[in-house]
Amino acid sequence: MQDQVVKKVVIAGGGSAGWMTAQALVTQLGPLVDITLVESDAIGTVGVGESTIPTARTFIHLLGLDEREFMRETKATFKIGILFDNWARIGDRYIHSFGEVGKSTLLAHFHHIWMNARDRGIGGDLGDYCLELKASEASRFFTSENGLLNYAYHLDATLFGRYLRGRCIQQGVTRVEGRIERVEQNGESGFVEALVMENGERIAGDLFIDCTGFRGLLIEQTLKTGFEDWGHWLPNDRAVAMQVSATEPAAPADPRRGPLCRLAVGHPAAAPRRQGLGLLLRAHVGR
Ligand SMILES: Cc1cc2nc3c(=O)[nH]c(=O)nc-3n(C[C@H](O)[C@H](O)[C@H](O)COP(=O)(O)OP(=O)(O)OC[C@H]3O[C@@H](n4cnc5c(N)ncnc54)[C@H](O)[C@@H]3O)c2cc1C
Repeated sequence: MQDQVVKKVVIAGGGSAGWMTAQALVTQLGPLVDITLVESDAIGTVGVGESTIPTARTFIHLLGLDEREFMRETKATFKIGILFDNWARIGDRYIHSFGEVGKSTLLAHFHHIWMNARDRGIGGDLGDYCLELKASEASRFFTSENGLLNYAYHLDATLFGRYLRGRCIQQGVTRVEGRIERVEQNGESGFVEALVMENGERIAGDLFIDCTGFRGLLIEQTLKTGFEDWGHWLPNDRAVAMQVSATEPAAPADPRRGPLCRLAVGHPAAAPRRQGLGLLLRAHVGR
């Protein structure tokens, strides 16, 4: 395998991960590799996952997407932070802003300067030095050539997958629809050699990428790579996600939010279509 040139890439799974992988490969490698993506309409996708952080912008750039088109196609809105309401305790509220707090100097990081100023009674609140926090509190947003405001997107993950699928197929990615029944491995090395479909079709390749989501068809069910359970470190280990039609622009201080909910902080007027609501729980809470 080490000396083998990868010419045919097979991606198992066509959720957001599968199509993002396909788009990244086709944009970056173009005709150097032949890409096939296998997905099952009957199994479908998980259909959640709409919140991003600013690294999404770098990735969108890497994928070669036009930001305006991407936002239009995925019904996205800009987002400059995440509001955690009633998070640590009822009544507790903070915004995780996406921007930097203050400016550091060659001599010291900003927090040293702020703490010194605070000791002198002139520092003010730390959040006063974060442009994104102040903008989200005031429901303000702007974009500019010099990138003054750091932002991410809140988008419809299902539409994102469909948008990328359309682009990838246009750019030469082969889509195979159907259920993968079994995975063929090399008898000696154990490397994956082919996916065998329910209808008997055999899809061989040099490199296989597992994007089958929670199933982990290749990495877990076939190769049994295992994973480390970090569950005991997590304050929350259950999530209920739902989408509701927006009847009016969402306000960052919306009193209808229940305990433990989170909402994106963007420009409310920019997302009139629907709102995503989430409830994060620890297993024993709410039973
Ligand atoms: C409640 C919740 C909230 C979340 N919120 C966020 C968020 O805000 N932001 C974020 O970034 N992420 C979030 N996530 C995570 C994110 O949703 C997932 O990581 C992501 O959507 C998973 O996409 P995927 O493409 O890996 O898997 P999936 O969408 O599950 O796609 C799996 C693909 O594999 C195919 N497949 C599976 N088995 C077979 C088979 N045997 N044969 C053929 N095809 C097969 C399916 O058809 C499908 O195309 C959230 C997840 C949950 C559960």
